Amino acid sequence: MSHHIYLDHQATTPLDSQVLDKMMPFLTTRFANASSAHELGVENSAVVESSRRKIAKTIGAKSKEIIFTSGATESNNLAILGLADTKEKGKIITVKTEHKCVLESCVKLRSAGFEIVYLDVDRHGFIDLKQLEKELSSDTILVSIMYGNNETGVLQPLRAASELTKKYGVPLHCDATQSIGLLELDVEELGVDMLTFSSHKIYGPKGVGALYVKRSIKLSPLIHGGQQEKGIRSGTYNLAGIVGLEAALSLSKQKQESEYVRLKQLRATFLDKVNGLNYICNTPLEDSLPHCLSLSLPGVNMQKMLPRLKRTVLSTGSACNSADQKESHVLIAMGLGRDLANSTIRISFGRSSTLEDVKISAEEIINAARKSMAGAVNEKS
Ligand code: PMP
Repeated sequence: MSHHIYLDHQATTPLDSQVLDKMMPFLTTRFANASSAHELGVENSAVVESSRRKIAKTIGAKSKEIIFTSGATESNNLAILGLADTKEKGKIITVKTEHKCVLESCVKLRSAGFEIVYLDVDRHGFIDLKQLEKELSSDTILVSIMYGNNETGVLQPLRAASELTKKYGVPLHCDATQSIGLLELDVEELGVDMLTFSSHKIYGPKGVGALYVKRSIKLSPLIHGGQQEKGIRSGTYNLAGIVGLEAALSLSKQKQESEYVRLKQLRATFLDKVNGLNYICNTPLEDSLPHCLSLSLPGVNMQKMLPRLKRTVLSTGSACNSADQKESHVLIAMGLGRDLANSTIRISFGRSSTLEDVKISAEEIINAARKSMAGAVNEKS
């Protein structure tokens, strides 16, 4: 590959070659439509169902509870808009630091007359369970809380939240896009009623994901057509994508324990190496995804710093937000001022990250940051 050191695994991951091998026949010779009634279609339908079974088993669900989608954006939209469509009105509780696809779904529902409550987070990004309990009421139709945050990696207290939602009989949806493959996820154990995940964050192909929907939950479809996925999500099966999602999930599961330890060590080494730098760590290290770090660098001008990173590839926030160029809503919700939020980098390690990479990048980041302080002299060096 290139000389780049890719530290943006929260934005997306490369396709694993083993996953591609599994997908290849379905991109070439075994291309039949899985809904076709002929023999080739029936064979491919069996492939879809076998993938569904394996995926369901991995997260402690039943086959029938898995709906294939085009990714986490669609899964989150389906969970929230699809559930709200079965009700006339009601309250939806979510969190200020959710991914935009959750927040924007809620904006749409607010204009349709639903009440939306956004839970606050503290300086470390955690929700307050007392606030959640205070907001839960008989008219609450849904709670949506992500597990691992895509900017800071903070892990919300999901089990405790689900105890509360159960107590009040309210369905709980969880966006687990960043945590699946890295953490043990079992829908029964977590107590969630819907769970979103996506393939391209776990070394699978882009454009495929799934939504776990507990059998007792009813959703209206967002996409209408040929009645695939029992009418909840029409559209020709993304056969290779579904095979890729299953293969990626199974591979991640195999690597989960060892990668968890290794990634945490890489992160600790990185922090050790940038020790001399003036930074504020926005990631609560003990309660976060193992591979990521959000660091605010007070006084550092990112417009100056980023072009100085010749090898290290990282983000200043969520890749999905970079088009609108606004400071991160996650960091603002955590109480960071605009200047600090705008001086923040997000680093996320992955399978290909080595100790050597971490050392090189740490050094490059220190140098780039020091030369990019507001008012720093020697601009061109
Ligand atoms: N939720 C979270 C937490 C994410 O990180 C992302 C991807 N940035 C999404 C949803 C959207 O995922 P997808 O790209 O699969 O639509």
